Amino acid sequence: MSKHLPKAWLLVLAQLFASALALAETRAIVGANVVDIDGGKPLSDAVVLIDDERISAIGKRGEVDIPADAEIVNAEGLWLIPGMMNMHVHLGLILPGKMQAALANESPEALSLRMMVNARGALDAGVTTIRLPGEHAHGDMAVKAAIERGDYVGPRIFSAGEYLAITGGHGSEAGKTFADGPYELIKKARQEISRGASWVKILISGGIATDGGGIAQPLMTPEEINAVVDAAHRFGARVAAHSGSTLATDVAVDAGVDSIEHGYFLDRKILRKMKKQGTWLVPTIVVSQPATEPFFTRIGSPHWYLERRNSTGKEHWKMLQTAIEEGVNIALGTDQLPQEPNDGTNATAREAQYYVEAGMTPLQALRAATIEPARMLGAEADIGSLEVGKYADIVAVSSDPTRDIKALRDIRLVMKGGDVFLNNASK
Ligand SMILES: [Zn+2]
Repeated sequence: MSKHLPKAWLLVLAQLFASALALAETRAIVGANVVDIDGGKPLSDAVVLIDDERISAIGKRGEVDIPADAEIVNAEGLWLIPGMMNMHVHLGLILPGKMQAALANESPEALSLRMMVNARGALDAGVTTIRLPGEHAHGDMAVKAAIERGDYVGPRIFSAGEYLAITGGHGSEAGKTFADGPYELIKKARQEISRGASWVKILISGGIATDGGGIAQPLMTPEEINAVVDAAHRFGARVAAHSGSTLATDVAVDAGVDSIEHGYFLDRKILRKMKKQGTWLVPTIVVSQPATEPFFTRIGSPHWYLERRNSTGKEHWKMLQTAIEEGVNIALGTDQLPQEPNDGTNATAREAQYYVEAGMTPLQALRAATIEPARMLGAEADIGSLEVGKYADIVAVSSDPTRDIKALRDIRLVMKGGDVFLNNASK
């Protein structure tokens, strides 16, 4: 190879290599307790060494060699957990009410800017990875690219691009046509994948936020669901299905859908089937529970929306309890911005707290916010736990979250890829 390269080019390459080495940074987080998300004893008074973007060593203080030029991040007495992951976020979310009225004529450019600001906010909530199951106008892809280039800071983004709605269904608009039938849906799925979507989002039943069909109604046909799943999987993309319906979910699970979103009315039988098939559930329980009602009042949700939300809440809660009992794979997601103020904390921390209230141990809830989403994304080799070789996506909290999940309410330090974005370590 090299004999085809002119000498000048070799020089340029050598200089590039040298400057890359000079840029590499070493940091050491010192003095914290490292939580073992596999349930083992925490490592106290630890050193976590970070070379550039990844963790290079974890051990007791005194047992890890800290290079002389390493930047020391003091986290004395704090508890380190993996950066959290929120698997159901819409950066451009608009909910019915005052917000919808205020943003009625939002241009795609203005939407992209709002999405960028919302992405940055996720980091402050300790969320270093998000999955976007359905946005508009592809601002998500622009934000993702800007973050990956390093032009802007925000969480790691896995996106489904625009969601696939059917005419008259959830997410559609009265009188307008959307993708219908296997061929149109396959085409739309491929378009999103070609723009960089690693997930495809289908809306297979009704939902809370629109009047497009009842929540329990299986609106998308088995032929349509099967076609999308087959087309997506051929490209290595995964499929998320918005579903509150047992009937629709039954078809989706058979078709090989990777995750069921919300799952409002799912019964024990279908949850058992999901457990057997390894289908993921992303509960988004904050959207329907009493403790988070002030959020909806604050954004001026109309009466019909609050009614629909409250009437769904009891079934949704029972479903979550049953899913936990049955051991269904659960990955945390909120359907609100990760950082959205809720019940004295943010949506992500409150969602995890709800999981414990519904029957998970604190450790299970912490896993649902870290390693489980990483597994759902197929990214567990890079993120989801604090291990040598993985990205240094690290959050520090002030107490042990495996004893009390409310520890997630007090985020002290947020690091993503070795860079510190929030540091209240000595608060
Ligand atoms: Zn959603």
